[in-house]
Amino acid sequence: MKELIKQLKGLPKADVHNHLHLSGAVEMLNAHYSDIRFKPPKYYDGFDGMMHFIIQHVNTLMRSSDDVITLMDIGIRSSIADNVTHLEASVDMGLAKYFDNSLEALIKAVGELKEKYKPEIDFRPEIGIKKTSELDEVYRDGMFCIESAVIDGIDLYGKESDQDLSGFKELFQEARANSIKTKIHIGEFSDALSMVRAIETLAPDEIQHGINAADSEEAIELILDRKIRLNICPHSNVALRAVSSLEEHPIRKLYEAGVNITINTDDLLLFNSTITDQFADLIQQGMFTFEEIDEIRQNALQGL
Ligand SMILES: [Zn+2]
Repeated sequence: MKELIKQLKGLPKADVHNHLHLSGAVEMLNAHYSDIRFKPPKYYDGFDGMMHFIIQHVNTLMRSSDDVITLMDIGIRSSIADNVTHLEASVDMGLAKYFDNSLEALIKAVGELKEKYKPEIDFRPEIGIKKTSELDEVYRDGMFCIESAVIDGIDLYGKESDQDLSGFKELFQEARANSIKTKIHIGEFSDALSMVRAIETLAPDEIQHGINAADSEEAIELILDRKIRLNICPHSNVALRAVSSLEEHPIRKLYEAGVNITINTDDLLLFNSTITDQFADLIQQGMFTFEEIDEIRQNALQGL
């Protein structure tokens, strides 16, 4: 296993499902804050349990804009430490509250991080929008981000249910018109039908998670037809009990159906599993061969 990890770690990788301020490695965070011992649990009580943990243990680290910048900086350095050379990470729009409610100041700070690490990593920030956000704010702030020179994508997320996403339709259209990549979190907890509806409503370029498509021929056909990439995070799905174990994970079924998949961290700080760790576990469990993982790795780097 040690040899395998060493080999995988040495390979350049992409992480395209990553929430930036939650993407630091636990040991790097603990090294930075000498007065805390951050320790994520192995399992969370679902999505709500994870949110509760974030409020109790992560949000308390954020008192100022400098703290947010520190967490994002640790996140980028953690990716670099795992030899991630291409990083698509979302920056939650709500973090502007730590910048005197100035989205402009938040985006400027993200732009500075992008420049700072340019030689080491191709960092493409996305603006993270909660599905429950007020639509007038979403359009005002979303358009600002789409038109900025810093933001490369939008990522719509939050608690999954079969909610009506049509309010975001024009924003997604504007993003496409500005060559901004579009992503939606769906199909981790919500069913395949909710994915079909989201794809038909918003026509995203990519889906974050999307694992429940495996339950439906119709959803798989639609994903194949529209060439939608699924950015899957196996350890996150297990930790949140969206799937019962890694062995039960539908990732193999989606792969065999010909779906374009990638393997990602989601929140390294919360799930404590790098891309290398996840590659190694999937090989170790006999779910993928080294060659298959290597093909997935290369596809993720090429399908930019
Ligand atoms: Zn996510």
